Amino acid sequence: MNEKIYDYIICGAGASGLILASSMLDDKYFSNKKILLIEKENKNLNDRTWSFWEGKNGKFDDLVSKSWTNAKFISFNTNLEFNLNPFKYKTIRSSDFYKELFEKLKLNEQIKIINSEVKKIINDKNEVVVHTNTKKFFGKYVFSSILKKDILKNSSFPYLKQHFEGWFIKTEKPLFDENEPTLMDFSINQKNETRFIYILPFKSKEALIEFTLFSKSVLKKSEYEKVLKQYLANKGINSYKILEKEKGIIPMTCYPFEKHNSERVLFIGTAGGWTKASSGYTFKNIINKTELLINFLKREKDLSKFNLRSRFNFYDLILIDVLYNYNHLGDKIFSSLFRNNKPYKVLNFLDEKTNLIDELKIMYSFPWSIKILFIKALFKNLFKY
Ligand SMILES: Cc1cc2nc3c(=O)[nH]c(=O)nc-3n(C[C@H](O)[C@H](O)[C@H](O)COP(=O)(O)OP(=O)(O)OC[C@H]3O[C@@H](n4cnc5c(N)ncnc54)[C@H](O)[C@@H]3O)c2cc1C
Repeated sequence: MNEKIYDYIICGAGASGLILASSMLDDKYFSNKKILLIEKENKNLNDRTWSFWEGKNGKFDDLVSKSWTNAKFISFNTNLEFNLNPFKYKTIRSSDFYKELFEKLKLNEQIKIINSEVKKIINDKNEVVVHTNTKKFFGKYVFSSILKKDILKNSSFPYLKQHFEGWFIKTEKPLFDENEPTLMDFSINQKNETRFIYILPFKSKEALIEFTLFSKSVLKKSEYEKVLKQYLANKGINSYKILEKEKGIIPMTCYPFEKHNSERVLFIGTAGGWTKASSGYTFKNIINKTELLINFLKREKDLSKFNLRSRFNFYDLILIDVLYNYNHLGDKIFSSLFRNNKPYKVLNFLDEKTNLIDELKIMYSFPWSIKILFIKALFKNLFKY
């Protein structure tokens, strides 16, 4: 392979980098393109569990470790159990995903994978130079899932963090209903923030229990542990073994990440703003947006024209603005959303697949005290973009 200049360089082999590389290999249009994938980690750990909802058949169904057709939503005044039809809630362990995708990519001669740390990406007129800790590489186009440091620090856009710690536990007795994940359980002390527990029951004796916040600042490690222990004790779950832990921080913001794109460099994944600001869900968005990107690359040469903004960003901005300024209202807002609307409509709305009438109905379903805050946030942010 002539290494002089790659058609595409993909920086970061996490969810978005791997899905993009794999989608290129699946498409005849890219069959004569040379691709370089640069990743700094070994990617052999289960560093996250991706859950998402989608129609019955999905692109990565072979990797789904568990799926559910029902789910629960709980708060102080709401206790809902619902069927997810036409969706299923699915979970993929990242270790399975990395293994499968790396195996596929390694079999293909079009693609070269190197284990190195990207230091900088320099955009020249006719090519892009990617500097790593050992070498520099030249590409016609670069896709980067590396989130620029401090990019969100002084942004004028409200910025919340979805931060969490989760424990995969095994109990002695069968204590979980393995047919129903709990998407949100707000019945914990809110401490003036938006705090809930998320539960994925894999078996009657095994579940992931995650303490999650949508708030401005992360907590001390001991705080997450205290809440998890207390929650389990309140449920009468005292005898359990922790099999694995996961923690993370996902940005929840409508910051215009696309302004960092240029003709030859495109940010993808969370770094490209592909995380749904109002929920933090990203995995399914990556699948959808990669499909759009693959089609875009067949038509266009200028990557800065790949713009995914729609009216749904504006809804997200309004919600995040309200949650940023009234963080204690998360419980009330999400309870009203799930209680007053059919769950599949809510999921469709979060998937950005509803029409304007559905969206107006959803807005109208909130109590007036919340609607007024939404209206104020709407006027405040009208000319934000
Ligand atoms: C613990 C956790 C759980 C999550 N759970 C869910 C979920 O259930 N559902 C959902 O929809 N979303 C979830 N998310 C959010 C989102 O789906 C994931 O963060 C997803 O991995 C984002 O994909 P990405 O490609 O943008 O980033 P990543 O998957 O993080 O990929 C970025 C890659 O770039 C590499 N990299 C970084 N810097 C450099 C550098 N300088 N040089 C070379 N390589 C570099 C990293 O090692 C990484 O492999 C979760 C996030 C976390 C952290």
